[in-house]
Amino acid sequence: MLTLGMGAAAQLAALNAYDANPDLNILIVTKALRGKGGCSRMVQGGFNVVLDQGDSHQKHFMDTLKGGQFINNQEMAKTLVEQATYTIKEMETIYGCFFDRKPDGTVHQKAFAGQSFDRTVHKGDLTGIEIISRTTEQIMKRGIRVLEEHRALDLLYDRERGQVTGALVMNIRTGELMVVEAAATLVATGGGPTCYRLCAPGPEKSLDGLAMLYRAGVEMMDMEMIQFHPTGLIVPGSVVAGALLEEGLRGAGAYLYNSEGERYMLRYDPEKKERATRDVVSRSSYLEIMAGRGYPGGGVMIDAAHLGKDFVEKNFPGMTERTRLFGYDLARKPVEVSPTAHFLMGGAVVNKDTETAIPRLFVAGEDAGGVHGANRLGGNGIADSCVFGRQSGKAMARFLATDRDIPESDPEMVQGLADHYRAPLGRVSGPVPADLRDRLRELNWIKVGIVRQGEALAEAQEEVEELMAEAMQAKVPKETNYNMIWGEWLSLVNMLDFTRMSSKSASLREETRGAHARSDFPEQNDATGLYNIFLRRGEDGRPVTEKRPVDLKYASPPSIAAPKEA
Ligand SMILES: Cc1cc2nc3c(=O)[nH]c(=O)nc-3n(C[C@H](O)[C@H](O)[C@H](O)COP(=O)(O)OP(=O)(O)OC[C@H]3O[C@@H](n4cnc5c(N)ncnc54)[C@H](O)[C@@H]3O)c2cc1C
Repeated sequence: MLTLGMGAAAQLAALNAYDANPDLNILIVTKALRGKGGCSRMVQGGFNVVLDQGDSHQKHFMDTLKGGQFINNQEMAKTLVEQATYTIKEMETIYGCFFDRKPDGTVHQKAFAGQSFDRTVHKGDLTGIEIISRTTEQIMKRGIRVLEEHRALDLLYDRERGQVTGALVMNIRTGELMVVEAAATLVATGGGPTCYRLCAPGPEKSLDGLAMLYRAGVEMMDMEMIQFHPTGLIVPGSVVAGALLEEGLRGAGAYLYNSEGERYMLRYDPEKKERATRDVVSRSSYLEIMAGRGYPGGGVMIDAAHLGKDFVEKNFPGMTERTRLFGYDLARKPVEVSPTAHFLMGGAVVNKDTETAIPRLFVAGEDAGGVHGANRLGGNGIADSCVFGRQSGKAMARFLATDRDIPESDPEMVQGLADHYRAPLGRVSGPVPADLRDRLRELNWIKVGIVRQGEALAEAQEEVEELMAEAMQAKVPKETNYNMIWGEWLSLVNMLDFTRMSSKSASLREETRGAHARSDFPEQNDATGLYNIFLRRGEDGRPVTEKRPVDLKYASPPSIAAPKEA
């Protein structure tokens, strides 16, 4: 069993597969160091799960659909909410994660935006570190093998191109390419929209899994649905620009102000105000900034001082400390923030057992689509990775119980890919990968960003092809040991393949829904039918798309019909 990635989805998959059958030969390949990479360890806010008698799976399900503007895959959303309860209990009792308690010893659950019940389990505001530290220890305890600083480049097929055989992997330390073959392969590299001027995910993320899946011909869905988090830190010139101030801060009552001192959320959403969902708050802040009511750093201000310094320091110690490093004083003074690219709702089409339509290929976590529809609720992301990682591990163990053949990879495919990826090495003239990446980030920020428009999206689709052509001529030093410029080139190509998908899908959705806002189509069109946009890679590298109606299996939006039972 091969696992690409080592975030929550991958770790839960490996642990569940091992616990189902300790004889399985499991290999984890991760771009980073163990326990250090990915977004799971960056989770601040927490994990949504039904634990309290006053709450219910039906309530969590309906909150998830409302947040997703009813284009979620309802079977996936139902699996998320139901299995989250078992998953979190196992994470405490089997893997040793320990979440904050109330004085009576029961697990503390806090408010998060868009929820009808306070159901977010957390460990202070450093929840991800608890989850990843404990699950990494369990991986080590079981002796599951990990290849650190190894980067998956592409999925491999057999000669007939009928089944996935594993992946082409690069040892980042030496530049050596290797074929890793497996009877079952999991892609769990964690999405991460790092192709934007401001973004929240970790720096090693570059949309690798999604690009690999696209190139492998896997069907993808809802690639236009990119979540911008409203409160990314403004730190001019720093790599931490865009890093998050978590949602719990707004949940606890922090205010947002424009440069005229107006608490503008009272105007955009008088009922929910700063507690409105991320799409609404991000769009409101963006419109304020674009209307010239931003601060010199290009953002707006979040102010938590009125909550009291002791309250802020006690409840948000991680954020207080982090912002202090950059000269802010969160507990006493406003902090400048901007919307920042945060999460991808879209991804590979999978079923609730994380199987794709391609034999031997599974996808879990942020690389998979469907669960969150048009907008993810805060706290449902890490829940998704843990729940579907667990589903994946169990399903892969079941699959491997009856089929442990390791098909041989197509040698021509391997050679072709190796030649392609080595091509820029030693080229002495041509564009610099980081320059092209920065141009792509600006292109995405302006034309495939928080508010989109048809003409700009059409331009973006052409410009991304021009950038891809330039990328194929880029120069990269010959030295292969820790060749970061080669890494930047590999990342650039993946970001470009991702933008092919996102810009095309965004151009086809002629409405405003959830995270996807169109200035030329400002309304949400439930009346004309709810649909998802599916796509695959066409012969020329561009996506071939198809719109299909949403299966309203368990519930419909109030605009269409009364909800059914879930
Ligand atoms: C700052 C921040 C805060 C967040 N806070 C919350 C929150 O409070 N609540 C919530 O629900 N969600 C939150 N999220 C979202 C949540 O973190 C993600 O949805 C979730 O962690 C994704 O898990 P994953 O396992 O799919 O991916 P990740 O945890 O990102 O793991 C991906 C793994 O793949 C590896 N990898 C990447 N590319 C390759 C490659 N080519 N080859 C090999 N390995 C590779 C990475 O190194 C990493 O190990 C937050 C996200 C961010 C960025």
